[in-house]
Amino acid sequence: MKKISIKKNDMVKIISGKDNGKTGKVVKVFPLKERAVVEGINLYKKHVKPKKEGEKGQVITVPRSVHISNIQLICPACGKPTRIGYVIEDKNKSRVCKKCKSRI
Ligand SMILES: [Zn+2]
Repeated sequence: MKKISIKKNDMVKIISGKDNGKTGKVVKVFPLKERAVVEGINLYKKHVKPKKEGEKGQVITVPRSVHISNIQLICPACGKPTRIGYVIEDKNKSRVCKKCKSRI
């Protein structure tokens, strides 16, 4: 299994697809599928049928997950899209920004 370096609440940049270049916050991660849901990204309109007669149907906007290969973490320290490295200290693994070496 591949490691997922993206976590919930990370700020990420979309690097492919119709939302290329946009940024957003990760709201959910699906490690097994290697996908994540990012706030405001990959939105699609879903039609909700009326439940009762006389009610109107609704159109709601729902975010679809994107594959993690299409997103890049934005380092909170240097503010740049970056790759993630790892350091092991006191048996704990920390993520580090490959650009500014800050722990993230
Ligand atoms: Zn950085």
